[in-house]
Amino acid sequence: MSTAEPSVFSRIIAREIPAEVLFESDSVIALRDIAPQAPVHLLVVPKTEQYRNVSELAAGDPTLLAEVVATAQKLADVHCGGEYRLVFNTGESAGQTVFHVHAHVLGGGLEEGSLGD
Ligand code: AMP
Repeated sequence: MSTAEPSVFSRIIAREIPAEVLFESDSVIALRDIAPQAPVHLLVVPKTEQYRNVSELAAGDPTLLAEVVATAQKLADVHCGGEYRLVFNTGESAGQTVFHVHAHVLGGGLEEGSLGD
């Protein structure tokens, strides 16, 4: 059993802290990022906190990873014309700050060649 504190996303899922929730299923939740880095910046988060990053998720539950990607597409269809960048920061030096796997859905007029800025 884990003794770690719940992640910020688990606290949002439990409605302990507020967020702009855009979609929810039995296994994922989607919300607007609190500090947007693109005109559209949404997050898709598996409800389980079991996987710290996308590598662990892919190995442990590829069906859930596919649901994350399908949810990203549905959100992008509504919020940015179906075109988007999907980012999974993996590790501190790659910018990950919340170690509860989540996809960033970025869109709405990104510059070509801006990856990694
Ligand atoms: P990462 O740095 O890849 O771990 O992404 C964590 C993301 O969660 C960042 O883009 C944060 O802005 C976002 N974030 C942190 N707290 C909240 C919150 N309470 N509501 C919405 N987004 C959040």
